[in-house]
Amino acid sequence: MLLRSTGNLCENRVPLEPADVPVPVPAGREVLIKVAACGVCHTELDEIESRTLPPHLPVILGHQVIGRVTSAGAGANRFREGDRVGVGWIYSACGRCEYCITGRENLCSGFRATGRDADGGYAEYMKVPEDFAHPIPAAFTDSQAAPLLCAGAIGYRSLRLTGLKNGQTLGLTGFGASGHLVLLMAKHRYPDSRVLVFARSKQEQAFARELGAAWAGDTEDKPPEPLDCIIDTTPVWRPVLAALENLKPGGRLVINAIRKEAGDLQSVLSLDYSRHLWLEKEVKSVANVTRQDISEFLELAARIGIKPEVQEYPLEAANQALLDLKERRIRGAKVLVV
Ligand SMILES: [Zn+2]
Ligand SMILES: [Zn+2]
Repeated sequence: MLLRSTGNLCENRVPLEPADVPVPVPAGREVLIKVAACGVCHTELDEIESRTLPPHLPVILGHQVIGRVTSAGAGANRFREGDRVGVGWIYSACGRCEYCITGRENLCSGFRATGRDADGGYAEYMKVPEDFAHPIPAAFTDSQAAPLLCAGAIGYRSLRLTGLKNGQTLGLTGFGASGHLVLLMAKHRYPDSRVLVFARSKQEQAFARELGAAWAGDTEDKPPEPLDCIIDTTPVWRPVLAALENLKPGGRLVINAIRKEAGDLQSVLSLDYSRHLWLEKEVKSVANVTRQDISEFLELAARIGIKPEVQEYPLEAANQALLDLKERRIRGAKVLVV
């Protein structure tokens, strides 16, 4: 499914086009993967609508890819034919810069993203450097494993960046694919912490309570207590201000969004220093993921039995899946089945 040009999804509701392209040929240390499933992520909307532009078009989107190795370049030796692997947002990094050599390859200026800077998994085949493919634990089906690679891994990174300690209160604003996995992780890692969820829809609020949230309300509702840390996964600005107001002194807001939409940017002008920032409140964004985030999260998810709720679409229905995501027809994580 090729993305040939970018633009607003409301104007062009079928941005992806089915096409026959040659099967990629793995060279050097690359492996070729026959794709079985690929998760659909909000970042694909950001690419299609030019908030994070692919450097070259056409491009094949998709960065939550599960498949099996079918062949390899002459220099590759990590996998055997038939091995099940996954590919997440990190397609490659330089391996030599100050960030790469200190475990922060997500910040590398040479960071290349799967499905943006290189062809991704909305396809029957893709290739990837073998060091950036991840073995997938047997506990998951292909469709269950796909959303773990982005929503799960970046949720894991976000939770780590909050610096939360067991017993402290965590807020989640936005409750999509990543939020629900973070809630499950937090319940396990911080058993004495209360998790409060801010979500727009009543269904999402009910789902949060079902999964163990101590409280769930609207994104701008007043929570019953102030929060030590909040993770924001919304694409907009108003919840950022609401979250800052709800933080305890010394609290931290972690924003997990590759780009924010500009629609309500004006609301930032109501930022009030004493209400939103003073008393050592912190704001930190989350950028990309490292391979370590992905592999540690996969291991954790298998160990504690995290199984994401998924909604499957055939690959040919990728445009529909993207529209459903944009228009918030959400029942678990969306996965294209190839
Ligand atoms: Zn993603
Ligand atoms: Zn680097």
